[in-house]
Amino acid sequence: MTAEPSGVGDGDTRVYAIRFAHREASVRGEHFYGHDPCSESPFPIDYYVWLIVSGERTVLVDAGFTAETARRRGKRDYLQSPMETIAALGSDAGRVSHLILSHLHYDHVGHVADFPSASVVLQESELAFWTSRHAGRGEHARLADPEAIASLARENFTGRVRLVNGEHEVAPGVTVHRVGGHTPGLQVTRVETARGIVVLAADGTHFFENIEQDRPYGVVNHLPSMYEAFDTIRALAGPAGVVVPGHDPRVRERFPAVPGLEGLAVRVV
Ligand SMILES: [Zn+2]
Repeated sequence: MTAEPSGVGDGDTRVYAIRFAHREASVRGEHFYGHDPCSESPFPIDYYVWLIVSGERTVLVDAGFTAETARRRGKRDYLQSPMETIAALGSDAGRVSHLILSHLHYDHVGHVADFPSASVVLQESELAFWTSRHAGRGEHARLADPEAIASLARENFTGRVRLVNGEHEVAPGVTVHRVGGHTPGLQVTRVETARGIVVLAADGTHFFENIEQDRPYGVVNHLPSMYEAFDTIRALAGPAGVVVPGHDPRVRERFPAVPGLEGLAVRVV
């Protein structure tokens, strides 16, 4: 992989996990595939987006959901929008050049319009599924944001949406990798930094426990792919790399809070 002088491989690359909402009224049984002996125990979940800043380059992984969506779906406590926290980190939503969408569930696509300069990178198979005849079926449909999907389909005509297949280099040192499992075209993001490799797994592993104990999440599109995703994420991180799960409150224990933004942002590297 080539590293440009202003690329993400530079020593000043910073990666943040930005927590914009959480849900306390949640139990283990909602989150793990198959029977869990402690299925009624409390199991709060966090909602994040991830910011990669390197020199002139600003890349965002996922677009969260809006305060309005939090009110409509209920139970979710909204902290502040990802754009506000990005500003507090000294960046600006208007400067985000690439918006990587891990997948098209409602909690990852709500603020796409608030990053107007960003080209949107997602897997072709993900958009294909959510515009297919199966999109509105069953349990999976409840996790969709039809308006966001419609506008992505529209933006595909303007050139703003970049549909990719499998592995793709988004910026120097930043690559996406399709893993599937949770949704048909779920992708994870690998970032090379001078301080090591970071894999922003999003819902490739919702919690540390999924990947560390080989325990699939409860919402499954394809079980073998979910196990394969764990293997791919481990391989992408390598022995010294860091894996950041998509929804784990323990992210706030394993990585240091950004001073002044406790509860809202941690610095991964
Ligand atoms: Zn999610």
